[in-house]
Amino acid sequence: MSEELISHEPATGAELWRGGISDVDAEVAAARQAWPGWAAKPLAYRAETLRRFADRVKADAESFADLIARETGKPLWEARTEVESVAAKVDISVKAYAERTPNRRIEGAMGLRHAVRHKPHGALAVLGPYNFPAHLPNGHIVPALLAGNSVIFKPSEKTPAVGAKLAQLFHSAGVPEEVLRLVIGGPDQGKALAGHDGIDGLLFTGSARTGVALNRQFADRPGKILALEMGGNNPIVVWDTPDIRTAAMLVVQSAFLSAGQRCTNARRLIVRQTVAEALIDEVRNLTNRLIVDHPHADPAPYMGPVIDNEAADGLTESFLILMSNGGQVIRHMTRPIADRPFLTPGIIDVTAMPERPDIELFGPLLQLVRVDSFEAAIAEANNTAFGLSAALIGGTPQLYDQFWANARAGVINWNRPTNGASSAAPFGGIGLSGNHRPSAFYAADYCAYPVASSESDALRASIGVGLRESDHDAPKLVRKGFL
Ligand code: NAD
Repeated sequence: MSEELISHEPATGAELWRGGISDVDAEVAAARQAWPGWAAKPLAYRAETLRRFADRVKADAESFADLIARETGKPLWEARTEVESVAAKVDISVKAYAERTPNRRIEGAMGLRHAVRHKPHGALAVLGPYNFPAHLPNGHIVPALLAGNSVIFKPSEKTPAVGAKLAQLFHSAGVPEEVLRLVIGGPDQGKALAGHDGIDGLLFTGSARTGVALNRQFADRPGKILALEMGGNNPIVVWDTPDIRTAAMLVVQSAFLSAGQRCTNARRLIVRQTVAEALIDEVRNLTNRLIVDHPHADPAPYMGPVIDNEAADGLTESFLILMSNGGQVIRHMTRPIADRPFLTPGIIDVTAMPERPDIELFGPLLQLVRVDSFEAAIAEANNTAFGLSAALIGGTPQLYDQFWANARAGVINWNRPTNGASSAAPFGGIGLSGNHRPSAFYAADYCAYPVASSESDALRASIGVGLRESDHDAPKLVRKGFL
């Protein structure tokens, strides 16, 4: 990588931003030095500073959303919802800090008390993905700062402008520059940051490939906290329902929202054979109507381009590989503008494929599998090493109970899309989707550690058993090795 990072708008190819690659050592050193001072401030001070940050975000919402839309290619309406989530994160985190990491005091006898309090880890690194370049790193940064940590934040190399803007909003609200450091760079800077002795932990959102590499990098450093929020190969199961139209809408939302670039997007549609044809017709018709266009286009598009040409090439190639391995095309994935990464959604029936790849295809590509029994549907839903989100559409309360009990995922929904999770709930996955450190409401858990103390205002001690009257009548040494 050169000494400069340049970001381009996926929709137009125009240059959007450029900036120098950061010196990781210097950024870590600054954050290390700063955290004790920040941690020593009262919690109310840190909360108020972060509330000011939320106000700045709201005041700057339109230009922030415009920047997110330009840099990611997502529609402006969707970028606006991302900005709303960034601002809302502060109040949610203050509540979560109080609920998840409260101080506790247990009174004992004779003035003794036991206390549980939480301490920040120190200097925490945050690595962000490109698909929600503000909301997702912010979901680590706000709780980390609130708990008294300093943060070294490296946005994705594909969305540095949004990362720089987010950092600037924190600083303008009064978070000291030393307490929140920005690292501009790509995987090399990510690796250097993750392996740096000066960090006390790493909060990561990104692909399973990177997450697994980070897990290895942390294997001989058990003392450092590592939170991994990774991808998924998410199933949506459609069972008996009289309302095929709404079922189709839930499928389309689950698969193609954000051009399929959400970790929670459905990748696999598992459908009961008897309803398959009707559902496929509805899904195809609805998908044909989706507007794929520039983020600022009028009428507003449902989805914009994927992040870059490389991602679009990979997805069209994956579609061809599925086709050539026995997949039956339901709807072709096309590339309407040759040199731009716009993709129309692709849908392919892979039921007859003997071996289906268990990988996250991060774009508007849905694979369909037909099954005959509910047991087969659950087995197919769990036929993945990932475990992020899963949804059942239709069925009965009893079938949902069975699905909920047996589906292996951190988010399990009924008659709702696989995506659109609430920030007021924990959010994380199992298997290759995470390392049991869920984010969102439970982010407080990995931003501070509990300390248990026994305390008494006065010195008080007694040895009740096994003590002689005086030390004069102590016996001589009788057994070798004991004095
Ligand atoms: P990515 O793994 O390529 O990159 C994420 C971050 O890690 C970037 O900042 C990148 O520069 C850095 N990085 C890359 N390789 C690294 C290495 N070897 N060492 C250290 N740092 C490295 O992910 P992406 O493509 O930007 O984001 C999309 C992925 O994120 C998808 O897999 C998606 O499912 C996942 N995601 C997960 C969640 C979640 O909460 N579970 C949310 C959003 C996105």
